[in-house]
Amino acid sequence: MVSALWRVHVDPRRCIGSGICAGAAPDHFVLVADASVALAELIEPSQEVTDAAESCPMEAITVRDALDDRQISPGRDGRL
Ligand code: SF4
Repeated sequence: MVSALWRVHVDPRRCIGSGICAGAAPDHFVLVADASVALAELIEPSQEVTDAAESCPMEAITVRDALDDRQISPGRDGRL
């Protein structure tokens, strides 16, 4: 079954405020006080978001299937 919803989380303990995610997916991440914040927790599947999660040097971004909690990114499944 293909999920239509993903859950995006940024771990503030890991984020170092590099801004890579906001550059890769400006519609999904913004820097607030030198830390990234996901603009929406629940999103439609997005290659930009998996690219951002895969690019994060701290692996601070986690993308999971909102229905079955399967981790989509980072990891080998991080492609649409
Ligand atoms: S790429 Fe990672 S470390 Fe850099 S701002 Fe985004 S979440 Fe933080």
